[in-house]
Amino acid sequence: MRRRTFLAASVAAAAWPRAGASQITNSLLTPWTGPYGGVPPFDRVKVAEFVPAAEAAMAEEWQEVETLAADTAPPTFDNTIAALEATGSAAGRAAAIYSVWIGTLSTPEVRAADRALRPRLAGHLDRIKQHSALFRRVDAVYQARHASRLTVEQMRLTELRWSRMVQSGAQLEPPGKARLAAINAELAGCYTIFAQNVLVEENDHVLYLKEADLSGLPTDLRASAATAAAARRRPGDFAILNIRSAVDPFLTSSDRRDLRERVWRSFYGRGDNGDARDNNGLITRILRLRAERAKLLGYATHAHWNLDKSSMAGTPQAALDLMLRVWPSAIARVHEEVAEMQAIADRETVGVQIAPWDYRYYAEKVRKARYDLDLNEVKPYLQLDRMREALHWVAGRLYGLRFTQVFDVPTQHPSVTVYEVRRGARPMGLWYFDTLARPGKTSGAWMNTYRAQQTYGGRVTAIVSNNASFVPGAPDQPTLISWADATTLFHEFGHALHGLNSEVTYPTLSGVRVFGDYVEFPGLLLESWLLSPEVLKRFARHHVTGAPLPDDLIAKIRRASTFRQGFNVTELLASALIDMKLHLADATDIDPKAFEREELARLGMPKELAMRHRLPHFQHLFTSDSQSAGYYSYIWSEVMSADAAEAFVQAPGGLYDKGVAKRLYDHVMSVGNAVDPKAGYRAFRGRDPDVSAYLKSKGFPAT
Ligand SMILES: [Zn+2]
Repeated sequence: MRRRTFLAASVAAAAWPRAGASQITNSLLTPWTGPYGGVPPFDRVKVAEFVPAAEAAMAEEWQEVETLAADTAPPTFDNTIAALEATGSAAGRAAAIYSVWIGTLSTPEVRAADRALRPRLAGHLDRIKQHSALFRRVDAVYQARHASRLTVEQMRLTELRWSRMVQSGAQLEPPGKARLAAINAELAGCYTIFAQNVLVEENDHVLYLKEADLSGLPTDLRASAATAAAARRRPGDFAILNIRSAVDPFLTSSDRRDLRERVWRSFYGRGDNGDARDNNGLITRILRLRAERAKLLGYATHAHWNLDKSSMAGTPQAALDLMLRVWPSAIARVHEEVAEMQAIADRETVGVQIAPWDYRYYAEKVRKARYDLDLNEVKPYLQLDRMREALHWVAGRLYGLRFTQVFDVPTQHPSVTVYEVRRGARPMGLWYFDTLARPGKTSGAWMNTYRAQQTYGGRVTAIVSNNASFVPGAPDQPTLISWADATTLFHEFGHALHGLNSEVTYPTLSGVRVFGDYVEFPGLLLESWLLSPEVLKRFARHHVTGAPLPDDLIAKIRRASTFRQGFNVTELLASALIDMKLHLADATDIDPKAFEREELARLGMPKELAMRHRLPHFQHLFTSDSQSAGYYSYIWSEVMSADAAEAFVQAPGGLYDKGVAKRLYDHVMSVGNAVDPKAGYRAFRGRDPDVSAYLKSKGFPAT
């Protein structure tokens, strides 16, 4: 995951050395000072500064844009496109600090500021992107771009700036702009109601059980169900909450088929109960509004609009083609998995036909019989500090980066450590490592960019962070993490390296500021290095004995990586296919339930499982614009990362092959969004991404 918080969208140049003279005292706005080209003043931040900082930053950015737009000199790349890169610097600094508090130090006060600011920021960004006088200047540079002597990067920046304004309605006449604003406002309202409906259905539909109903449930699940019931004033009962983190383990372990069915129906029925919280009507309305907006902006459908804006795929067809290449293999694997599970069910009980509420349960029996991997055995070998050393070692081998801890930089919490990053003698930036759980910190893991690398207006190095919420070890004991956590650590570090390796001119194109279906690629890719013997033998050492992770455990981990992948990929892919088809369809009067049913039947969806997110609760699609017609991105990025890892595996030096690493650096890791990702990937791999490595990594049969 990579974090994007509210002001981040407007960040042009986080460290651009011009400050709003009016806001010298607000710590969110003042230029960063101190070592390493200036660092965020985390030690001076007050939450009370957030709202005034955001207001001042927006006002300053608007003033900068107005000044640019009013320039009477003929428009040039320098005085228009490049000059835009220097706007919004205070907003960039404020966003960096603000995002740290939202993600890692949240309080009711912080959340109140967020609620107050979010809608105003959306309006602010729209106003800039639709600025008529600014667009006339951007358009003049764009129309003259081929006759101007622009570098490749300047050409790309010009085209991106122009198309982002066009896609936001900058070319529309006043009535069109007014209609667009009305559509966006109505959509924003729909998104809020959609999210609230799902939230209520998740909170309210709780299944209360008695001790006698718990057959099969492991101790930790019983304990958390008891705690959840007590918190709902039902002491002595056991509550199965209607959220994925409770439903998944229940469906995996409960021996009670009748209860599994009830829990499954409740979870997959969220937003689809024909009551006041039913989301189907809302979806019909959202789709109609999106289609109208797409037409207004000159696109055939919402899917065309969203993919043209910011995707490597470029067109809905390209995304569909890739998904449909994977689909037959995924469902073929589902049929194999079902056959294997059915055999177990037939041996145990008469008359059970594997249904969606049985899949996880019988798959778990297969896992125990076939893979015999107890992940608890692995954890004593995974010390957080040693894993951090492993990350640095890998970055050294692949990219020649060296990490040295520094102590002269303020942090937002005493547990955060900071490292200076150099390549040879050349400073490349700072890396903040913030991985322990604490109150107010979001669960999950992510990478954040505090300051983007750039050279426009002088060289500025990157400042990035990796964040997670691992449970700290007891005092004087090392913090141990699970295999999944270690994988996550490598994933997020892949994003950090994307930020730290950046060598571009303009901040808009820097590091991880790439398209939505491309950004996960460097993160997913680095996961493969955790499994390399070089890393495991050196760094996965038992915290008491110091012994390396035994070979038979490593072999089991490798084998288990293909477990239940038919289910995992098919539920994801079914959601992604329905998402894309829905946003390509004629939106006049769509009945979401019928659409979902008929399209899944047409695809040959196996009846033993459901979409990961059914439409009435598909929050990725209906709580904002950004991920709609974009759920395919997960598969798209995974295909690329498997294909890229294969390039290493096939090279003489394997995962540490210098030549492949150099090509990856040249065409992916150092170029940010300064080159077209399709061309960049082709230059790295010598061809377009191929699905075969991905299919192999999932253990799918060739079809
Ligand atoms: Zn990620």
